[in-house]
This record gives sequence, structure tokens and C-alpha cells, in this order.
Amino acid sequence: MNRTDRIRTALPGFEVPAQLLQFIETASPEDLFRVNLVTLSTKINVPLDTLLSAFLKMVEAGLFNLSWEYHCTHCNAIPDFKHSFSELKAESYCPLCDLGFRNTLDKNVEVTFTAHNSFVEIPSEIPERIKAEAIAAVKEKRYQMPEHFLSGLQCLVNETFHQLFGEQVLSSEESLAVETITLLFTDIKGSTQMYSDLGDTKSYEIVREHFKILFQAIVQNGGVVVKTIGDAVMGSFLKPVNAIRAAVQVHDDFNKREWTSIGYLQIKMGIHTGHAIVVNLNDTVDYFGNTVNLAARVQASVKNHDIRFTKRVLEDSEVVSYLKERKAILHKKFEMFKGINDPVEVYRFTPGAP
Ligand SMILES: [Zn+2]
Repeated sequence: MNRTDRIRTALPGFEVPAQLLQFIETASPEDLFRVNLVTLSTKINVPLDTLLSAFLKMVEAGLFNLSWEYHCTHCNAIPDFKHSFSELKAESYCPLCDLGFRNTLDKNVEVTFTAHNSFVEIPSEIPERIKAEAIAAVKEKRYQMPEHFLSGLQCLVNETFHQLFGEQVLSSEESLAVETITLLFTDIKGSTQMYSDLGDTKSYEIVREHFKILFQAIVQNGGVVVKTIGDAVMGSFLKPVNAIRAAVQVHDDFNKREWTSIGYLQIKMGIHTGHAIVVNLNDTVDYFGNTVNLAARVQASVKNHDIRFTKRVLEDSEVVSYLKERKAILHKKFEMFKGINDPVEVYRFTPGAP
């Protein structure tokens, strides 16, 4: 059986892009060692998300191994790697530098894919030679991080990863730093009134429908549902503009239902961007820190059927162009939030018709 047939047999019902099949079919063993998906995406002209989903499926099927690699923050070399997210540690040590360093999921953690030996055998000379070359380069202080690479955060905030490997969580004592993550918090207003007017069964149906709208909007815009807390939802995104797009999509979908016209269920959404730490809470991946607290506070400060976000979100140029495109009218306000010392610049936005 050739490689293409083996992939097709291992992934029934999953459409693997033809360019990817062709690449793997004709690749040398070295080409299938530490595959950089960002580079490959450009080379074979397949979107990164599509490529990542396909590789994650191949990892699940045992054709490839996924490696979480730590780059030393002093010399860029890779002193260690793990195959499972759950084995990652906050701190690592580089024997070449004889120094410790802290891992940041979107800075020095690179995710690569290597063919499993049972799929394509990679002779041991290849990794040994690459390692020797890397050590020589480090000694001459010329070892570089690749210009573009798939970061640990990009992998973690991927829906296919979430579906297939969502049970991989850090040990409860570990936390991993993330330099920039965008968090969306939502909650509904009017559910108590709705429960007393419509009764439990009907209300529950509506609340369930609201979850469906939210989950869909988060996933379709490249985010991941981190958790639900009662009727509230927390989503994470790599890019602020995707969180805004998801919020606007939820808003639009809500407006298409009769809920708003009968006065029930208004959705209140808050978005903030910043650094956080990834932790394990109740055996799921969760985020912790100031950014999380502020995103939740911004959400809680929404009065009606609105979206609010912080200045930090508006500093993103993609957000600015998207809001311009939507002809959004923004209302700026400085707010004091409990537990946060300085006033926070917050923007309110009610999306009109698209
Ligand atoms: Zn080092």
C-alpha cells in the first residue's frame, strides 16, 4: 500500500487535501522529520488550519507524532520536547547554556510533526546529523528560531486539537505562560423572567439553543469554548478580531430569533486581550490571571444587548478595519472595576445590520 492509501484507510470519511497527499507521497524521510506546518502551508498552498486538522487526525491515527518543543530563550536550541501537552512544564533547563528558562506557549514552544516509524521510517542518522548541526550552530551563536512556526498556543486553540486531545491537560501544579490571548465572556440577561413566564422545559430549550449559537460562532471564527459557567460561556481566540467577529455573529443570530422581540434573552458580551497563564482546572484547559478577571468584569458591566471590549482590543489593526467595515459606532467610557486599580478604557458597540 502506498502512503496515500495508508492515510486514506486510516482516516475514513476525512478529506485530506490532495496537495498534502502528494507532498507526503513523494517526501523524503528527512522532509517528514519535524514538519513545520507554517512553511508547508505556504509551500503546498493549503490553509494552515486545514493542514493542522489533517496532521492532528494523522497523529490520532498513529501515522505521525506531534512534538511540543521548547526553544531555549537564551540560545534558541531545543533542549527538550514532549509528545503530550500534559507533559509540558513551566520551566526548562538548557544544558548548553547551563541556564533555566520559562516557557511561553506563544513564544518559545514550537509544535512540529514527525512521521511515525511504522508509517515512514526515518533512519536515525537524519535526526543525529540535524542535532549535531544544531549544536555546532549554537556553539557559534548562530542558531535561530525559525522565522515562522506553529506555536504551542496555535495548536492549543485549535478546534480539532480540542476535540481529539482535549483531555490532555497540564498537571495540576503546572502553569504555562501565554503572551497574548483574547478572551470572550458572555452571559444572558432575562433568563430568570423567562423561566417564570415560560416554565422550565421551554426555557431550557431556548437556553440550549443559545448555547448552540454561541459554540458555533466561537468555533466558526477560529476560537475554542473554554468552559461554561451556568448560562455564561468563556471562549478563547488567537486573534482579537476573531473574538469580535464571533460576538457580532452571535448578536446577528440572536436578532434573527423571536427571543429579543418578546423581551427575553439579551446577550451580554465582553472581550479583552492580554497575557495569561494556562492551567488545569477540573481536568480541562483553563486560563488564569488579570486578563481573565478583566474580561469577565467587562462582560459583567454590559447592561443590555451589547458588546463591550477594552482599548487593548481596539489597538489591533484588524479589529479597527473590521469595525470600519461594519460601520460600527463606538461609545468610549472609563470604568472602575472591582479589584482593578486604574480606570479602564472600555468601548461599547451595538452591531447594526451587516
Ligand atoms: Zn540554551
